[in-house]
Amino acid sequence: MRFCIFGDIHANLEALQTVLADAAKNQCTHYVCLGDIVGYNANPRECLNLVRDMDCPVVKGNHDEMASREADPGGFNALAEEAISWTRAQLPPEDKEWLRELKFVRQVRDFTIVHATLDTPTKWGYVFNQLDAAASFNYQHTQLCFYGHTHSPRCYVRLADRSVQVAPFEKLRLEQSKKYFINVGSVGQPRDGDWHASYAIYHADRGYVELRRLEYDIQTAQQKILAAGLPLRLAERLAVGK
Ligand code: ZN
Repeated sequence: MRFCIFGDIHANLEALQTVLADAAKNQCTHYVCLGDIVGYNANPRECLNLVRDMDCPVVKGNHDEMASREADPGGFNALAEEAISWTRAQLPPEDKEWLRELKFVRQVRDFTIVHATLDTPTKWGYVFNQLDAAASFNYQHTQLCFYGHTHSPRCYVRLADRSVQVAPFEKLRLEQSKKYFINVGSVGQPRDGDWHASYAIYHADRGYVELRRLEYDIQTAQQKILAAGLPLRLAERLAVGK
């Protein structure tokens, strides 16, 4: 079994299509989505339809939640709020209902998926350091958990003595005595200073996780953002990965 683990698509269709093509080329047999399908970029309906048609496990992201409700986007900055208002106007009621029904945490085979954190998955906190990761590890009942939300690929490892370390993560071999909390980065709006679309392949049969970074048609994604009347800054940030 080979899993394509992808999230934080944020309505970037060009990046999503590139990731899915790469996963198919790499013989992924299963797909798992970590949420934030919509928000920021210009193709929320197209990305949502693509993911929904895959009929794969999906967890809810904070942008999925805000886009599916009418409440004030509390906690969102002005840029995200403007994009959410625009996104709400694009989505028909059945799409919003599908987003609303998504679960916050799921177990898929032998691993767990969540958008933000395992300790308070509905509060949308961020895992930025070992202390944050340690809090999630306390609620992680599988060896492996994949998450998103920060848009930066990162792997935290909990050792047998319960200490938490950051591990380099390009090709990560899993060891039985350790637990792993892995951020696969963002498909549609990377923020680690690298503009390439990010996702991971979990080679379940061979016991390793591989981070993938891909070039995609960023110009088309940017042109669509501007044509939609979304803020210029949302187009600009794609090119710098911030
Ligand atoms: Zn996100």
